[in-house]
Amino acid sequence: MSEARIIDGKAFAAGLRERIRGAVSALKDGHGLTPGLAVVLVGEDPASQVYVRNKGEQTRESGMHSVTHRLDASTSEADLLALVETLNRDPAIHGILVQLPLPGHIDSAKVLAAIDPDKDVDGFHVVNAGRLAVGLPGLVPCTPLGCMMLLRDVLGAEGLRGKNAVVLGRSNIVGKPMAQLLLQADCTVTVAHSRTRNLQAVCRSADILVAAVGRPEMVRADWIREGAVVIDVGINRVPARDPAAAAAGKTRLCGDVLYEEAMGVAAAVTPVPGGVGPMTIACLLLNTLTAACRTTGVPVPEGVAPGH
Ligand code: NAP
Repeated sequence: MSEARIIDGKAFAAGLRERIRGAVSALKDGHGLTPGLAVVLVGEDPASQVYVRNKGEQTRESGMHSVTHRLDASTSEADLLALVETLNRDPAIHGILVQLPLPGHIDSAKVLAAIDPDKDVDGFHVVNAGRLAVGLPGLVPCTPLGCMMLLRDVLGAEGLRGKNAVVLGRSNIVGKPMAQLLLQADCTVTVAHSRTRNLQAVCRSADILVAAVGRPEMVRADWIREGAVVIDVGINRVPARDPAAAAAGKTRLCGDVLYEEAMGVAAAVTPVPGGVGPMTIACLLLNTLTAACRTTGVPVPEGVAPGH
């Protein structure tokens, strides 16, 4: 069998960001509307700092209004809730994202529940989870939304219909919303997790396999059906392949799928990095655009994300 197609999420995300930029410019010119995103970071977590910086940069590059609130790790839950309330009422802000994880003394669920669901661009609020489950328009979590766009690009909207899709992982932020989206696209969906029996056989039954477990390279060639489309959500940092480099503390990023093996069996595979990852921030911008249009009653400019 020939090598699988590499699903280039980096290029797809760049195209999507470009279309968002055009749409933002059209909204400014045509409606005097500048979509605004507020990102709130509490504490000094190094990975979160990088994510928040990237989000701010890409928001500005898209032409949107970008605000970042960096709060001290000792910020009280009450102060954070008060900031969320201020942002809920701010008409220049259409999207609010509170970067997780929050320090231990703050109840994350309480903070997420305080965000106005119509500004909840992460799509984590129970109201948005409910809207997704019953098929109402809402804000969909960015990572599964990005995965769906890549799948539609590879298979076409019709190509998803009736396919056996297996989602490996059942988190609220990836696995469960991913399963809902695949169901909406008329796939037959199985959600697998740490208690699933015969996991390898379940995965092997998939025409579409979405891996979101956080276990480095767990999915091997003999877990994948020949000709399947494989979406690897995992982002894992592991020691470098070269033993000397690993001994020197060098690391590499890998997914939940052993990429080189998957490439020999599947029809198409997302690489890590450069697959799903870049789609997540692009979809955050898309959700901010959507939120700005919906809350102001302005139509979303056409062609930004066809069929999303
Ligand atoms: P999570 O909350 O830790 O959930 C992991 C899921 O995998 C759980 O449902 C768990 O099952 C299941 N699981 C764990 N070990 C398993 C095993 N050995 N066999 C079968 N199932 C197993 O993780 P997450 O937040 O969904 O993230 C998953 C991965 O995606 C991580 O690598 C994360 O870094 C990555 N991620 C990437 C992006 C991106 O932008 N590309 C965004 C978000 C997350 P139980 O429920 O039974 O415990």
